[in-house]
Amino acid sequence: MERRTCTGCHRCLPLDSFPRAGKRGHESTCAMCTNDTRRLRTPLPAIKSDPVQVRINNTFNLWHGPVSRAPLRIAA
Ligand SMILES: [Zn+2]
Repeated sequence: MERRTCTGCHRCLPLDSFPRAGKRGHESTCAMCTNDTRRLRTPLPAIKSDPVQVRINNTFNLWHGPVSRAPLRIAA
């Protein structure tokens, strides 16, 4: 069994742990590292703040004062 050293994690792994790149040859990184770089390349979706929720939150804070949300998170 042919083995190759991954350029990402520097582990010596059998060739079938490297995903295929094109007709012949394999990626220079193992399947795990290829997945990692692919995951890092795709940016996380931006969290859109809902203006209505922001206004409700601000009203709540104005009325009750900013409180810890930890008990609410446990209840939910
Ligand atoms: Zn690797």
